[in-house]
Amino acid sequence: MTQRAKYLVIGRGMLGTAAGMHLATVAGDAVLLLGPGEPVGAARVPLGAFHDAGRITRIADENPVWAEFARHSIARYRQLEVESEIPFYRTCGLLWLDADSARLAHAAEVGAEACADVVLLSAEEARERFPEIAVPATAACAWQPRQAGVIDPRAYRAAMEERTIAKGGRVLDAVAAALAVDGGGVTVALAEGGQIRAERALIATGAYGALDGLAQRRLPLAVLRRTTVMAEVAAEAAAGPLADLPSLIGKLAPAPWWYLTPPLLYPDGRYYVKIGETGEEIALTDVAALDAWFAGAGDPRVVEFLRAVVARVLPSVEVLSWRSRGCAVVHTPHGLPLLDWAHPARLAVALGCMGSAAKSADAIGECAARLLQGQPFPGGLDPARFTFAAAG
Ligand SMILES: Cc1cc2nc3c(=O)[nH]c(=O)nc-3n(C[C@H](O)[C@H](O)[C@H](O)COP(=O)(O)OP(=O)(O)OC[C@H]3O[C@@H](n4cnc5c(N)ncnc54)[C@H](O)[C@@H]3O)c2cc1C
Repeated sequence: MTQRAKYLVIGRGMLGTAAGMHLATVAGDAVLLLGPGEPVGAARVPLGAFHDAGRITRIADENPVWAEFARHSIARYRQLEVESEIPFYRTCGLLWLDADSARLAHAAEVGAEACADVVLLSAEEARERFPEIAVPATAACAWQPRQAGVIDPRAYRAAMEERTIAKGGRVLDAVAAALAVDGGGVTVALAEGGQIRAERALIATGAYGALDGLAQRRLPLAVLRRTTVMAEVAAEAAAGPLADLPSLIGKLAPAPWWYLTPPLLYPDGRYYVKIGETGEEIALTDVAALDAWFAGAGDPRVVEFLRAVVARVLPSVEVLSWRSRGCAVVHTPHGLPLLDWAHPARLAVALGCMGSAAKSADAIGECAARLLQGQPFPGGLDPARFTFAAAG
């Protein structure tokens, strides 16, 4: 059986659902969102970078483009929550600790230019403000109290999908197995059988899109391993001494850099502080390696490092249990997402989110939707900055 669509979005992750929502706003049921939902039981599906409860959101950033993407997206969080009736945003603020005060001052300035309220603090002032955090005496600190905190990526994705459907868009729970481009459009064969014929398609399949060959051209992307650790804390601690904990970024010496969320309630009914890192850049080079990495518990050396960070930064916290898992991010040479036609006016890609796009999925998804419609990017953004040519 062949299903038809004017606009097909492959991938129901954070970018795909955001692009679907923006496309459905103008094209309603001409939009089809394709991808697997959450994995159920032992079923193997390509996973996304959102099967979790916490992603840090902030405007302060070293790169003005990322700061603008974040500002646009964060400004629309509350409206999306109200319209979808799916809450996903907690404004607990962001505390950034940095060994390099010039780098931090620059990120604060970029944030301020994008209208964020960012205050530079001494280590002593930060310790007074957050007594639970052992701020190193040598750290430069920046505090963004508003338009910052944490979002639930699963819920954010669900809210985008709810709005896509509310605007008339369609959703198909299936996996793209093969793709062909011709002069009239794109044909996608589904792993479950059947096919889709679309005038224009967007590949927004995260780490899989970088490796599975569906785009049928060389992609300037690197899929990098990431390990996250979950430190379980008692519900009393989450509601008590840790209740005011902000999201934290630590760019301290020695590397790797780390980030940490406040305790969040997970689907198993327990509270976890989630911590992750940006360290040794080890690439995953094929789909089998990516599948295996997603199914595993991450790199034991990184797990050890992250457990030590929790002990050092939150010394009074009693950890009840530890868990860890592998996840993956996709990097581009130019540090910006790749938003371009892989095959002119037929097949586009929205890939390469530098591990930074959860908070900004709305704005990046909107650019991808505009690309598919042949429209300029919003806010005067120059599309040339996001092309294959710019990525080199
Ligand atoms: C450990 C970790 C921590 C992070 N922390 C932050 C953070 O604190 N703040 C922040 O802003 N960002 C963060 N990020 C980055 C953010 O999560 C990603 O940038 C974002 O999820 C990327 O969205 P995406 O839609 O491109 O890909 P994904 O969210 O990975 O979604 C891709 C989707 O495509 C589907 N798919 C794959 N193959 C196919 C196929 N063949 N057919 C159909 N569907 C397919 C997958 O099932 C998935 O649903 C983090 C990422 C990781 C890994």
